[in-house]
Amino acid sequence: MQIQEDFSLRQLNTFGLDQCARFFSEVYSTEDLTEVLRWCDERAIPVWVLGGGSNVLLTSDLEGMVIKIGIKGREVVEETEDHVLVRVGAGENWHEFVMFAVAKGWGGVENLSLIPGTVGAAPIQNIGAYGVEVKDVFHSLEAIDKKTTSLVFFDSKGCAFGYRDSYFKGQGKNRYVICYVTFKLSKSPVYNLTYGNVEDMLHELGYVEPSLTAVSETISFIRRQKLPDPSRIGNAGSFFKNPVVSLAQYQSLKDNHPTLQGFPTKDGMKIAAAWLIEHCGWKGKRWGTVGVHDRQPLVLVNYGQGRGQDIVNLSQAIAKAVMEKFGVPLEVEVNFW
Ligand code: FAD
Ligand code: NAP
Repeated sequence: MQIQEDFSLRQLNTFGLDQCARFFSEVYSTEDLTEVLRWCDERAIPVWVLGGGSNVLLTSDLEGMVIKIGIKGREVVEETEDHVLVRVGAGENWHEFVMFAVAKGWGGVENLSLIPGTVGAAPIQNIGAYGVEVKDVFHSLEAIDKKTTSLVFFDSKGCAFGYRDSYFKGQGKNRYVICYVTFKLSKSPVYNLTYGNVEDMLHELGYVEPSLTAVSETISFIRRQKLPDPSRIGNAGSFFKNPVVSLAQYQSLKDNHPTLQGFPTKDGMKIAAAWLIEHCGWKGKRWGTVGVHDRQPLVLVNYGQGRGQDIVNLSQAIAKAVMEKFGVPLEVEVNFW
């Protein structure tokens, strides 16, 4: 067990915010993790769990322990004619796992190409993109209960996956450390090309037929065109969730704003938060050292010298403007620390 003190997290969060952790430890096994958790428990030190830092907003220094999950490994634990179950260490890079699956010819995660972060964080907000969510390929996960340090297994039901949501963002928040995730991938992939311009773009890129490689490369191409690269400009992806409103509210909004698009969900109509923010005049706006991205207004950016609190203030001003103009509350997707 190696514990560092007064550790800068600047390189470990994609907003590039320069905050310190009083204690920091990277763990490479469940045994390492248990040891650090016990050390913290004995001293009543609060614990934050960090993956790739691509969905956190550091608002101050952290008077506790930040544990970075470095647990690696990819192992096939079951194989049939149709599918494989792959158990993956929580510290594996998500996109590298996608590339591994694509190279093996295993389908299911290709639409989730180029999402930053780690495998262990993927179930936390049930990552999703281009019509696919991690719940669609999820089999089970193994986690350590922070309080008791016992090992707990979760199946899909136990994770209570929702839209960019799960048990781990609700009742189970801050209680478990995910160590391994097992995915069920298909050996006879069914391609999901119905989202936006994915199919057209695939052909434009010269692919005649879809394949795992073609889909993955098409998604990566679309993402690179639109989304800011965190290594160049600090951001944590979509700052807010897309709101789901009642059919009545959607109809009333649509009557006044005919270009508004709605996507039916089981709870009502999902509308694009980016559209709402843009139509309040925030797209591309600079707010001192931080601002709103000029191609995707759902993404708030740090131009380099911003503080977490600047991003919080900006996000509150945006949410207030959207509420005043459209009567729609915006819910934050990023995790505030
Ligand atoms: P972190 O930011 O390190 O942590 C996020 C949360 O999960 C924290 O609360 C943390 O405590 C918790 N956590 C992390 N690891 C563990 C663990 N092992 N056990 C328990 N808790 C843990 N998200 C999407 O859904 N779809 C997208 O298309 C998408 N695109 C993005 C594009 C960009 C440019 C960026 C910057 C972000 C994007 N995101 C997207 C958001 C982000 O990539 C995902 O939420 C990702 O899963 C976060 O992974 P991470 O390892 O960086 O998590
Ligand atoms: P986009 O394609 O411009 O679409 C705008 C919004 O409309 C999206 O948020 C999407 O909801 C919704 N939408 C579009 N077509 C849809 C369809 N056929 N069915 C259902 N909903 C549809 O969005 P974008 O910003 O370029 O992002 C592309 C994809 O990557 C999206 O799935 C987005 O969620 C994902 N992404 C997520 C993050 C993050 O941090 N969470 C960051 C970047 C990109 P959904 O978001 O529900 O798909």
